[in-house]
Formats: sequence, structure tokens, C-alpha cells
Amino acid sequence: MAIITQSEAYLVELRNLIEPEDVLRSHGYIIRPLTDEQLLSKRRCLGCNKTISQLTPSNTNLSDQIHPTDVADKTVQVPAFRCKYHPGQVVRKHWSCCSQHVTANPCGGSDVHIPRSYGPGELAEQHQFHPTPDALLKGNDIRAAVALDCEMGTAVSGDRELIRVTLIDYFSGAVLVDNIVQPDVPMQHLNTRFSGVSWADVRKAKREGSCLNGKAGARRALWTFVGPETVVVGHGASGDLRALRWIHGRIVDSFVTESNTKKRREAANGDKKQVEAEIVRTSVVRMSERVPDKNGNENVGKKQKNRKKGAGSLSLKTLVKTRLDRDIQTRGREGHDSLEDAIAARDLIHWIISNPVHE
Ligand SMILES: [Zn+2]
Ligand SMILES: [Zn+2]
Repeated sequence: MAIITQSEAYLVELRNLIEPEDVLRSHGYIIRPLTDEQLLSKRRCLGCNKTISQLTPSNTNLSDQIHPTDVADKTVQVPAFRCKYHPGQVVRKHWSCCSQHVTANPCGGSDVHIPRSYGPGELAEQHQFHPTPDALLKGNDIRAAVALDCEMGTAVSGDRELIRVTLIDYFSGAVLVDNIVQPDVPMQHLNTRFSGVSWADVRKAKREGSCLNGKAGARRALWTFVGPETVVVGHGASGDLRALRWIHGRIVDSFVTESNTKKRREAANGDKKQVEAEIVRTSVVRMSERVPDKNGNENVGKKQKNRKKGAGSLSLKTLVKTRLDRDIQTRGREGHDSLEDAIAARDLIHWIISNPVHE
């Protein structure tokens, strides 16, 4: 990996690419710790497993929607339940309640959603976001700029859960953190095909003592190298920071930078509508979070195929090919590699800084 010479002049260029808060927020970044009310909205219904925020008024139409196939086939009785789920268990990919395949629409339900109860501090521990602390700890090794990428699996709750975190020094390219994270919630699957992380990797990391302990352990490892002033580079890193439950003010996001470049270019070409549609489409794919079924069933993997960094002209793979003429993510079924992706995001930003006049 090429070393970039660290200088004040270069840092000024890099800091010019830091996105303002409102732009970060519009790209899905969390910029303030959650309020108690927001934390309570993370509770899930015991029946349908949707979160309270998914069930708030603006979304109720969605939860009460009748599936098109129900309407098409008049012989099927559509349950009048507001909270819909399968009361049974999944046995060999079929529901015990109705013998339907795991992907089938709920066969039962109840009139109301009932939030499950949480232990003291449980919601905060799982969902609260934490700003980068001041770099006061002895032994810290705070860098001027770093690049970040994470891999996520799917928790039993349906949440995306951190399973690997990678941090490199932006200038030297030195690998600062590249560790498997032992999830601190029960997992449905590690999404191995896309994350590249298997249970064997987790077991090996535990044996070797290199496994980080949950999201808090991952944040601690990162904060050894990242202080409030450190520039953090990533490609569509809002998902990574969300998985880490991390709030950081100095973000350079190559996805956002390239989106803006593309918008400007197309606006100049008078082809704005088409571009905005593409940016919205890509952002939606990137920010989409699954709505899991009760017991979270196996169709979840399908939706994750539309992974953020996977496709489209603003994907990391495409941009690295067009800007740097380099092929990444070529291993197909073996999944992504957060080290490769962190390096790619860093090289992309370096290209942008080195080519100030480009399209
Ligand atoms: Zn059923
Ligand atoms: Zn419900």
C-alpha cells in the first residue's frame, strides 16, 4: 500500500472534505446521543418483533398493510389483526402453526402490539450512541486521520450487529485495528457470504485472545487511535458508525463526496433529475434496514444482497475501478474484506485530493 506523506498542507485538503452535520444527518449518521424517548422507541413488539419506531403513526399503514397476494387470492382469509405473526416455531424451514414456508405471511396475531420488557440499562447498553471521548488516556496513540470499515451480521432481534472492525492509519496505511468482534447479543447469523466472517473465525479469535468484546470493546479499541480531532474516512460509513453506536464529528465519506461531485456534474449537464434519482436509490439501499419477522427467519439474507457497497455507480467497487483502475471485492462468495474496503476508501479520498479538478 502506498504511503501518503503527512503534512499540514495535506491535512488542510483532507479537512476540507469533512461533511457538515446536516449533510451527515441526511446520510444517516447519528450526531447526538439518543433521548430517553428515542431509546424507548427501540423496544420491539413481543408478537411481530417490529420496533416501536416502526409502529409509530407515520408507519402504521405499513404494518396494517394487506399483502398483495392475500388480495389476489380471495379464498385466503386475511386476518384482521394489527399485530401479525406466526404463533408457532420454525421447523425445517416451515412454521409449525400453519405448515407454511418460513417466508410466508403471518397466519395469526393479536389486536395490539405488546412491547417486550427490558432490564435496567439494557436498551441504553444496546442502543445508546457515544461521542468520541477526549484523548486523555495514557498510552493512547491518537492519529491525525484514519480509515474505517466494519462487517455486520444479523442479531436474533433483526438488528444489524457488528462482527468485525478495521481501522488503518490514513497516511502510513498501518493496520491499527483489524479484529473480530464477539457480538454481545444473540445472533441469527453472521451473514458470512457477505461479511466474510464465520463462526470458525469467531472461535479462532477467541482462542487467540484477539476477539473484541461487543460494541463497547470495539469502540475502546478504536478510541486508542481516534480522538475528537481525528479525521475518520470511510465509504458510506454511517452504517459502520451506527453499528458501533459511535458519534464522530470529523467524517470524510467518499460516498458522500462522490455523490456531491456527481450531482454537480450532472447539474452542469442539465441532467439533474436522473442523478438525484440514482443518489436517492443508492442511499435507500445503503440505509435500508430489514424489518424482521418474528423469530427472524431465513429470508433475511436475501435483502442483505443489496448491500451498501455492492452495486451502482457510487459503490466502492465501481469507484475504485473507475478512479484507480483497481479491482476489489473479487472474491465473490467469500464476501467482503473490511481491510480491503478501508484501504479502498482511503485511496479513493487520496485520489480526490490529488485530482482537485475532476469529473
Ligand atoms: Zn403460521
Ligand atoms: Zn406487534
